[in-house]
Amino acid sequence: MSTHSNPQEERPYDLSGMCRASSLVLVNTGDGKGKSTAAFGTILRAVSQNWPVAVVQYLKSGDWNTGEEKVCRELGVKWFSAGDGFTWDSENLDETRAKAVAAWDFSAQLIAGGEYRLVVLDEISYAMTWDWIDASEVAAALKARPESVSVILTGRDMAEEVIEAADTVTEMVKVKHAFDSKILAKKGLDY
Ligand code: ATP
Ligand code: MG
Repeated sequence: MSTHSNPQEERPYDLSGMCRASSLVLVNTGDGKGKSTAAFGTILRAVSQNWPVAVVQYLKSGDWNTGEEKVCRELGVKWFSAGDGFTWDSENLDETRAKAVAAWDFSAQLIAGGEYRLVVLDEISYAMTWDWIDASEVAAALKARPESVSVILTGRDMAEEVIEAADTVTEMVKVKHAFDSKILAKKGLDY
């Protein structure tokens, strides 16, 4: 017989000594699908609380991800596309780098400004992986953020400094991905 026969008598967590944070830093990383999707799902929750939300896309150009961008804009989310498409498509790496640096300066202002209660930095990890922006500077900005500002950072191989500065870090693990079976990204599900 199970020792868990009456779930209602059980408390899943011991709540004594716990507190409510005024904001959180979330990281979605790993090589499985779902990092950006989870961030956009969280945006729905933030919007439902009437939070002002801003998204900075580091790698994708304006014509990628039209689906979520369109709906987010309709929901009042401020959307900034920093990149000029996937980096490996870029004809001019220096320009891509300059855009990433500019995107970070801009993101740092969004975080420090306190105007938004949620700031999503989508695919920011690559800019740190390629040393375009300094991971310790990103971590410092997260730690120094205004009390009310939550931040979600997404992308594979998130820098250790950022993981250390975050409250919640989720690693998406790829069990299977359609792309490996030569199935292209599907509008409505992948973008
Ligand atoms: P999504 O935006 O679907 O949540 P993601 O943010 O976790 O994906 P990215 O690395 O940003 O992953 O992926 C960008 C695009 O590549 C998306 O269309 C996504 O569906 C697809 N993708 C995600 N993970 C993989 C993978 N392991 N192999 C191939 N394609 C992937
Ligand atoms: Mg993504």
